[in-house]
Amino acid sequence: MAYTNFTVETDADGIALVTWDMPGKSMNVFTAEVLEELNALIDATVADKAIKGVVITSGKSSFSGGADLSMIKSLFSVYQDEKARNPATAAQKLFDLVGRMTGLFRKLETCGKPWVSAINGTCMGGALEMSLACHGRVASNAKSVKLALPEVKVGIFPGAGGTQRISRLADAQSALQMMTTGQSLTAARAKAMNLLHQVVEPDQLISAAKQMIKDGLKPVAPWDEKGFKVPGGGIWTPAAAQLWPAAPAILRRETSGNYPAALAILKCVYEGLQVPFDTGLKIEQRYFTQVLQTTEAYSMIRSLFISMQELGKGARRPAGQPKTELKKVGVVGAGFMGASIAYVTAAAGIAVTLIDRDIEAAGKGKAVAEGLVKESVGKGRITRDEGAALLACITPSADYADLSDADLVIEAVFEDRDVKKAVIEAVEAVLPAGAVFATNTSTLPITGLAKNSKRPTDFIGIHFFSPVEKMLLTEVILGKETGDRALAVALDYVAAIKKTPIVVNDTRGFFVNRCVLRYMSEAYDMLIEGVPPAMIENAAKMAGMPVGPLALNDEVAIDLSLKILKAAVADLGDKAVDVRHMQLVTRLVEDEGRFGRKNSKGFYDYPPKPGKKSLWPGLKDLYPQKKAEEIDVNVLKQRFLATIALEAARTMEEGIVTDPREADVGSILGFGFAPYTGGALSYIDAMGVKAFVELCETLAKAYGRQFKPTALLKDMAAKGETFYGRFDPYGVKTAA
Ligand code: NAD
Repeated sequence: MAYTNFTVETDADGIALVTWDMPGKSMNVFTAEVLEELNALIDATVADKAIKGVVITSGKSSFSGGADLSMIKSLFSVYQDEKARNPATAAQKLFDLVGRMTGLFRKLETCGKPWVSAINGTCMGGALEMSLACHGRVASNAKSVKLALPEVKVGIFPGAGGTQRISRLADAQSALQMMTTGQSLTAARAKAMNLLHQVVEPDQLISAAKQMIKDGLKPVAPWDEKGFKVPGGGIWTPAAAQLWPAAPAILRRETSGNYPAALAILKCVYEGLQVPFDTGLKIEQRYFTQVLQTTEAYSMIRSLFISMQELGKGARRPAGQPKTELKKVGVVGAGFMGASIAYVTAAAGIAVTLIDRDIEAAGKGKAVAEGLVKESVGKGRITRDEGAALLACITPSADYADLSDADLVIEAVFEDRDVKKAVIEAVEAVLPAGAVFATNTSTLPITGLAKNSKRPTDFIGIHFFSPVEKMLLTEVILGKETGDRALAVALDYVAAIKKTPIVVNDTRGFFVNRCVLRYMSEAYDMLIEGVPPAMIENAAKMAGMPVGPLALNDEVAIDLSLKILKAAVADLGDKAVDVRHMQLVTRLVEDEGRFGRKNSKGFYDYPPKPGKKSLWPGLKDLYPQKKAEEIDVNVLKQRFLATIALEAARTMEEGIVTDPREADVGSILGFGFAPYTGGALSYIDAMGVKAFVELCETLAKAYGRQFKPTALLKDMAAKGETFYGRFDPYGVKTAA
């Protein structure tokens, strides 16, 4: 049989080398066709008497990324369609569907001939689950080899046997840790966990895999052998009695009970280890079916898997603009942000000219990049040579003439209109025609800055977040006159540096900072009401925020908050800010000298390392404190999520953000908005706009007008609309 996605070569020893290499794709993924072909391959190799065993590997630099988008999407659409037609059988249909991969891998495992997975690169999700069903697993020791079951990060869990096989190979604690965090393992770590049989040099990979078969590898999984014992003895041992009672509590501490998939992993392993393997698979299949029906799974997959990929692949890129391969990027301002922007640009293999007021200052910026390279080399993320190549891409300079062949220049100089004006003029004096100028301003409207430009159509905002090398998001901001070409170049650049872009229209604070300010502002209100500071921080974390609002304010700097409040008063008048907030922040900064983490004194105290930060005790003396039992923590949680979601809704209403995918992805990647919700607008859609409006009205009565629902929300509530229905990103009017 001829396969589209696999080639088969059988050698003189009767070992079939199956190479997975999907045409037209940069990475192998599981599609319906791949599963069909794999099924046929198992049948064919079993039927062929000349074949003694099979080695499966990949023809690409990675092994496989796991399931394809279309497969995941189809699980949801089949279930939704069936639910609409016949609710009684929808869950059964979903159950049968999710069992297909499980059944196929079990068929491979019990086919009677030995299979060895030869893992040559990244092996994720379903691909690792398939490898676990093989009788032998060999991985190359190349740095690019990473093994993971990352499903939990998008609201689901390994549902093709992963929970059962991992927990029968590795000790329970490591298995749980791996699956509930979705962490990537190096080949060495995977071997130490007993998930791999061998780790070899890349050029030995296939021969080592074949050798396992020649050495008589038994085509029987350990759990199918008589007398199989779970590592560590299973659930009813003294060691397990230490682990299992604590495990749900630890999970709850880490996730506040917000992630059904993470809890399902615990259940699958705990219940599965007490029964025969095939029953364990059934248990997993049941929980998987259940988790797929949760709002969390639906929303997380939509935002963190589907939308993120779509935005990354240029969903908002204007049509008809040729792709720009950036050869040289200029970065002006080699300070805190500029140095890191130069680093991430060079990491993408793009030459960078890094300019500051003098060569010493520019050199300091490069030194920051050197520090980052040193750290990456130290942690084994890149080799010494790769680090050297990266640094060779960065040329410090104080001469604007060096920008005469740049494709794109990004300015990250002081946040001062006059300084920026001078830089825009100096850059444009040398910038070639067609090159694009981008500003990294965080507060100054792009349209206003573009007034200093002779070519405002080539002028755009590219707003990075700190720390630039870690944050996955960039906001691309359109000024009134920004042209399609500038947008295309900006998006090509963001794609090259492997970040996810959201495209927003010009406004004070753009999208992310507008929402973040609401989060911190609600915390100010709570402090003023007398809510104990620790309760504020804990409630935010229980709501799913990764960092409490007071800790976040310390990172951003409290003196910056004061600056922003003062600027708002100067530009928009006294009413633009809450006078109590101004008093609070002024007191902290001007009376107490508490600027945030940068001077080790903010809402928290920061003792020298290894001391741990703790809330500043003086905070409690600023306002009369309520008793914890007088406060409903659920209301605190709602206030945090609702105030941010309302701001996101306002940005849609104002046309600042036009695509709900961007508000959702931007809110999670930009400031960690409770990821289990799928983002700020999915949070509203999931509860229903009507219910959200009612919640906001209740909160407005009790806590202030910041919660007043907007005209758009009321209109949507009356019409029974959702954000994904009304602002359908795919252009087809359907209810989400
Ligand atoms: P910074 O003070 O650390 O760095 C600014 C750099 O610009 C300094 O090295 C300075 O010497 C240089 N500079 C000033 N005038 C110059 C000129 N005329 N020519 C060349 N270089 C000049 O500031 P930063 O925190 O890196 O912020 C830079 C920009 O990025 C600001 O617009 C800020 O709003 C924005 N931003 C900052 C953050 C953040 O977290 N700090 C986040 C997003 C955006």
